[in-house]
Amino acid sequence: MSTPLVRRSPTHSAEVVAVADLTPRMRRVTVRAESMRGAELRPAQDVELLLREPSGRRVKRRYTISAARPEVGELDLDVLLHGEGPGSRWGAEARPGDAVEFQGPRGKLELRGAPWHLLVGDESALPAIAAIVAALAAGERAIAVIEVTDAADERPIPGADVHWVHRGSDPAGGPDRLTTAVDGLDLPDGDGRGYLMGESRAMVALRGVLEARGLDHDAIFVKGYWNIGRPDRLAGRAPR
Ligand SMILES: Cc1cc2nc3c(=O)[nH]c(=O)nc-3n(C[C@H](O)[C@H](O)[C@H](O)COP(=O)(O)OP(=O)(O)OC[C@H]3O[C@@H](n4cnc5c(N)ncnc54)[C@H](O)[C@@H]3O)c2cc1C
Repeated sequence: MSTPLVRRSPTHSAEVVAVADLTPRMRRVTVRAESMRGAELRPAQDVELLLREPSGRRVKRRYTISAARPEVGELDLDVLLHGEGPGSRWGAEARPGDAVEFQGPRGKLELRGAPWHLLVGDESALPAIAAIVAALAAGERAIAVIEVTDAADERPIPGADVHWVHRGSDPAGGPDRLTTAVDGLDLPDGDGRGYLMGESRAMVALRGVLEARGLDHDAIFVKGYWNIGRPDRLAGRAPR
């Protein structure tokens, strides 16, 4: 009997080569890995960082590749500093010269052409939304609805009509503010495509909202990025 083939994504050894504050709560960490030289990437793919909790337990956290320079093996990762967890901590503490390992790139999103695209999410999805908008064909319209804490979190997304939603001091992750904003949008005619990326349950709830606005079920990409009150579900599945 033959042994089943187990496919694992490769583990890359990288070094932090630069850090930059994009906003008070979003830090760009640039990593360089020899093994990423010449890599061919699709828009909004991500990597799984192999990190450690303070207890020493190994965990994985996923971050979108905001930009890549394959000629030198560099990736820009934009990390939300939401205050808790190994990912947020890594973003806050990363310094040039630090070593870090990651797996990937991964990500199943396949961009399909459409007259317009509606992208909805919170600040953890801002890097993916920007990468998707940058990859759209000329003439395809992008409308984005993004929830952030306040105006200090806003970043330009060239090529998109962006509707910013401010939660202020309210907790992150509920669907209500994004629902109200999507309900109030003036959407173009024709068949659009939808992308929902953010807190898992909020994004599932928002699928119904997009369908009520006329988007086809099959034209909506939904991806849970995090879960209210609970660490990333991959936490217990990191390799030893
Ligand atoms: C495909 C994919 C791409 C992603 N790309 C990015 C990216 O480019 N940039 C980015 O910042 N994030 C991104 N995320 C989200 C990120 O992986 C999660 O937010 C992750 O939980 C962060 O890990 P952590 O260790 O900081 O917090 P965890 O240990 O996972 O969680 C600790 C606590 O923080 C809360 N929490 C987790 N994430 C958030 C959040 N975003 N806002 C508020 N509270 C939170 C949890 O509910 C929990 O209570 C992506 C996720 C996926 C699946």
